Amino acid sequence: MARYTGAVCRLCRREGQKLFLKGERCYSEKCGVVRRGYAPGQHGQSRKKVSEYGIHIRAKQKARRYYGVLETQFSNYFKMAERKPGMTGENLLRFLELRLDNAVYRLGYACSRAEARQLVLHNHFTVNGKKVNIPSYQLKAGDVIALKDKSKQSEKFKIIMEINGSRPVPEWLTADKEQIAGTVVRLPGRDDIDLDVEENLIVEFYSK
Ligand code: SF4
Repeated sequence: MARYTGAVCRLCRREGQKLFLKGERCYSEKCGVVRRGYAPGQHGQSRKKVSEYGIHIRAKQKARRYYGVLETQFSNYFKMAERKPGMTGENLLRFLELRLDNAVYRLGYACSRAEARQLVLHNHFTVNGKKVNIPSYQLKAGDVIALKDKSKQSEKFKIIMEINGSRPVPEWLTADKEQIAGTVVRLPGRDDIDLDVEENLIVEFYSK
């Protein structure tokens, strides 16, 4: 399964904001955006006039990188969002938010989406009692995501839960801290998604 393997702090610096791709480090003074708040590369500190196309592509890249999705998969999400009734941009963000790896991260069972993706791939979670190891698995209202009993004993999860125990869980999910399980109580709306992006710019990018 393909994934981005380059330096991740570069991605945040390119987008000019924190995308929280590295877990704990993102909240520390070591964050790349805090230390070097300008774009990466030789010309990163020079001021450039951004074209209309540049604005659109940056919005698309920001959302894609935030959720850790590759180009083709992102454009497939866009096509699905277009076919669905309602606002395309909002549908797109909802599809991304309802990925299993994102929900695992939102529930605090991983320090970053990249870690959540790996934990899902390594068979640590079930959905409605069934083993699911597909990070892009689309959740539905009522689905229950749970950590497997065997995994609950592992030191790794004890540390993860300690680090993320106080992280707030969005309202479209409920988390049972005892059982290490979460439920999708409803589909997320735009207000539930904290990604700072104008989704209409992404729609315009794909409409050209
Ligand atoms: Fe982005 Fe986290 Fe790196 Fe900061 S530490 S630049 S938020 S990935």
